[in-house]
Amino acid sequence: MQLEQIVKQFQIYGDFVEGHPYGSGHINDTYKVSVNLSGTKVNYLLQRINNAIFPNVEKLMENITRVTEHCAEKFCQMGYSDISRRCLTVVKTHSGGSFYFDHEGGYWRVYLFVEDATGFDVPETNEQIYQAGAAFARFQSMLVDIPGEPLYEIIPGFHDGKKRLAAFENALEADRFNRAANASAEIKYQLDNAWMFDVLPDLVKKGAVPIRVTHNDTKINNVLIDDKTAEGVCVIDLDTVMPGLSLYDFGDLVRTSTSPTQEDEKNIDIVGLRLDRFESLLNGFMSVGRDYLNKTEIEYLVFAGKLITMTIGMRFLTDYLSGDTYFKVHREGHNLDRCRTQYKLVQSITDQQDELESLVADTVR
Ligand code: ADP
Ligand code: MG
Ligand code: MG
Repeated sequence: MQLEQIVKQFQIYGDFVEGHPYGSGHINDTYKVSVNLSGTKVNYLLQRINNAIFPNVEKLMENITRVTEHCAEKFCQMGYSDISRRCLTVVKTHSGGSFYFDHEGGYWRVYLFVEDATGFDVPETNEQIYQAGAAFARFQSMLVDIPGEPLYEIIPGFHDGKKRLAAFENALEADRFNRAANASAEIKYQLDNAWMFDVLPDLVKKGAVPIRVTHNDTKINNVLIDDKTAEGVCVIDLDTVMPGLSLYDFGDLVRTSTSPTQEDEKNIDIVGLRLDRFESLLNGFMSVGRDYLNKTEIEYLVFAGKLITMTIGMRFLTDYLSGDTYFKVHREGHNLDRCRTQYKLVQSITDQQDELESLVADTVR
C-alpha cells in the first residue's frame, strides 16, 4: 500500500509531500512523512508495527496511549509548553483509533515528529550518557502514579532469568551442533554465575523491590537529544513499556553504554566498563532516581548491570549452542563472540565493584 494512502487514514491535515524510510531501528519499519499545510511543511513519524514480535497490537497501543497521555499531563502540570517534544504523541485515525490496519495485513501508527533532536546509536560524549540516564529515570518517575489497571505484559516472561537459564541448560544438554566443546570456558562462567538469577525475584517476593512501569528497551538511541540544548528531551520506542523492575532498565543502560565497544567486538581486551562512562550514567539516572527509588533499588544498581549483561550473554550462548536460530549471525561463531563480550563486561564490573559501589554511595550522600 502507498504511504500516501496510509497517511490519509490518520487525522493529518495538509497535502502529502513525501515519505522515506527513516532511522536505524531494527524492530519496526519506520518512515518520516511530510505534508504541506498551507505552505508549511509538517512532519510525522509513521511506523509499521512489527506484529510478529507484538501480536497484540490493540493492547500494545493501549499501553502506549495510556503512558504518553499520562506523561503529557505531567509535563503540562510542570508548566512546559513544548509537550509534544517531551513525550510521544499518538496521532489518531479518522475513526478515532490509535492504529490503522491495512488490507495487506499491516498495522500502522503515527506519532508527531520530534523536530531538532537526534537519537545516537553510539554515544559521542559522556554528557549524552548522562542525559540518557536522566531521561529514562524521569520516564519511570512520571509513571509511578499512572492510574488504572497494571499495563498489559506485552512480552510475557521478558525478564524471567530462570526461564532463560532453563533454556540454556536444555541447549547445553542437547548440544545438537557439538559446539559445547568450543565454549567450555563460557559454559563454566555461566554455570558459576547462575545464582544471579534468583536475587531480584527474591527481593520482589519479599516486597523489598517494587514492580513499576518500565521501558525495557533502554538503548541510548531511544532517547532523543535536543540538537540545541543537548538535553535528553524525549524517550521514544515505547513498544516494550510494561510492568517491570527499575533495575532492569538501569542494568541494560549499563550493558549498552559503559563499554566503548560494539556488542560483537572480537578484540576482547578492549571490552570493559569505563568508570567515567558509568559515573555519567549513574549520575544522570540518580539525578532523578534519588527522588523515587527505594534504598534496596539503589543498593542493587551495580548488580543490575551485571545481571542484565549476564542474561544477554547467556542468551547469545544459548543461541550459539542451538545453531543460531534467534539472533542473526554474519560470521561463524558470531553468537559466541557476542557472548564473550558480555561476559567480559560482567567480569569487568565485578573487578571494579568496590569503586562502582562507592560511586553509588556518593549519589545519596
Ligand atoms: P525501533 O523499535 O525499530 O528501534 P523506534 O521507535 O526506536 O523503532 O524508531 C526508529 C527511529 O526513528 C528512532 O531511533 C528515531 O531515530 C526515530 N524516531 C522514532 N520516533 C520518532 C519521533 N516521534 N520523532 C522523530 N524521530 C523518531
Ligand atoms: Mg529504537
Ligand atoms: Mg523498539
